[in-house]
Amino acid sequence: MKQALVIGGGFGGMAAALRARAKGYRVTLVDRCEGLGGRAQVFQREGYSFDAGPTVITAPFLLEELFALFGESMADHVDMLPLDTWYSFRFNDGKRFSYGQDLERTDAQIAAFNPADVKGYRQLLKTSEAIFNIGFDQLAAKPFNHFSDMLRQIPALVKLNSHKSVWQLVADHIQHPQLRQAFSISPLLVGGHPFHTTSIYALILYLERKWGVHFPRGGTHALVAALEGLMRRQGIEIRTQTSVDKILTRHGRAHGVTLDTGERLEADELISNADPAWLYRHMLDDVRWSARLKLAAADYSMGLFVLYFGADCQWPEVDHHTISLGPRYQGLLDDIFTNHRLADDFSLYLHRPTATDPTLAPAGHDAFYVLAPVPNLMGAIEWEEEAPRYAERILDALDKTLLPGIKQHLTMRFWMTPQDFHSRYLSQHGSGFSISPRFRQSAWFRFHNRAEGPEHLHLVGAGTHPGAGVPGVLSSAKVVDQLLPEVK
Ligand SMILES: Cc1cc2nc3c(=O)[nH]c(=O)nc-3n(C[C@H](O)[C@H](O)[C@H](O)COP(=O)(O)OP(=O)(O)OC[C@H]3O[C@@H](n4cnc5c(N)ncnc54)[C@H](O)[C@@H]3O)c2cc1C
Repeated sequence: MKQALVIGGGFGGMAAALRARAKGYRVTLVDRCEGLGGRAQVFQREGYSFDAGPTVITAPFLLEELFALFGESMADHVDMLPLDTWYSFRFNDGKRFSYGQDLERTDAQIAAFNPADVKGYRQLLKTSEAIFNIGFDQLAAKPFNHFSDMLRQIPALVKLNSHKSVWQLVADHIQHPQLRQAFSISPLLVGGHPFHTTSIYALILYLERKWGVHFPRGGTHALVAALEGLMRRQGIEIRTQTSVDKILTRHGRAHGVTLDTGERLEADELISNADPAWLYRHMLDDVRWSARLKLAAADYSMGLFVLYFGADCQWPEVDHHTISLGPRYQGLLDDIFTNHRLADDFSLYLHRPTATDPTLAPAGHDAFYVLAPVPNLMGAIEWEEEAPRYAERILDALDKTLLPGIKQHLTMRFWMTPQDFHSRYLSQHGSGFSISPRFRQSAWFRFHNRAEGPEHLHLVGAGTHPGAGVPGVLSSAKVVDQLLPEVK
């Protein structure tokens, strides 16, 4: 039996391991963290369960496919709960807006801001669907390893106005400045500045409508645990707390790795779920010119400051996903992405999983995380010093807005900074989502799924085609599935 070795157990790595196994490979997956999931780690402390990363689960069929590969049904292992309200917004002037599954309710919410935008939103959804039909259905799970793959798609990309940004596309359809913010913010979920992210990512608006927004009972961790169970049932060997130092190559072929302990592992096919920028900079000597060029010109996603906290009471009026926008939109984004400056104001995403699954905290308590997009480590911020101050500022802001009284009811808190993304996940510049989703870093211009280096090395995950986010990295594993040689 041929041996495949997967480096990294994020959603991309787990999906690739399962696909390789279904193809007939003997599979080993190694990850440097204590548990699987990569950015979807779980922190279980004092009766609270905090998902570290992804919380908005879309396109669940991509997960169902992995169980179906082995004749199993995901529903037997995870209870996916569809949400009615997907996102609630609080603007700086105190105004509220929310949208979700019920289109008529969404229309009414839009009309309260600007009646003309009801029609605009429907048109925006139509445009998003057209982008989806090509960008998701035809391109997301297709290899873009050759320039000819890209050339073939140019007419479609031109037709879809992919050179425009998500912001420009939204502004073409929506007039009200606050609604423009609400509908253009989704690139932040995949590490992009809405004013610089290619409008291909506006397909998210339709994707959410097509399959809904879900949360697994037990949290995203329940999904990771279910995938781990599936891997173990299929005999995939899993080694956590195992870090790869170098990819071994011979005559232009990858044939194994060395671990940080000095141990060597040999394999016929290697699949890396590591950050490609880190892989090409630190783990591989044989790197082709195309990857070197990408590294030289790379634009990285922002960093994330994530504050996890529990409280001994509940805020039932706070929805599962709330976005609190500060006084500035573009200016703040520029400070984060371009100036790499930690601004005095911020915009926050507040996750309240106990709104959907109260068992994630002790009875009568709430569990939260609040996420602030911040500069990645290219900004000179001393996170060890800054983090406690920043956490305090965020809690002060929440106390005045979404969570009155939170400061008296806190039971615990801890955080992750871009420094932690760097040291835990080996993320270049501590970025939250690898390289950013600009047009010049999409499709063929993104890191390829077939290594731009030795043969028999493949890449999955956020920095590779098609891009970050759970649906993106699951799609990257589908691409690698097509590239892996059949087992004879
Ligand atoms: C706070 C946060 C919130 C998010 N919210 C959402 C959301 O709501 N919805 C959504 O769809 N997406 C969301 N995302 C994005 C999404 O989580 C990621 O894009 C996706 O999970 C990344 O998966 P991946 O396959 O790239 O692997 P990662 O999750 O990046 O995992 C890679 C793993 O490989 C390990 N590794 C790296 N190098 C080595 C090595 N040399 N040796 C061994 N192991 C190694 C790392 O430690 C890590 O465990 C969020 C991300 C974050 C951080």
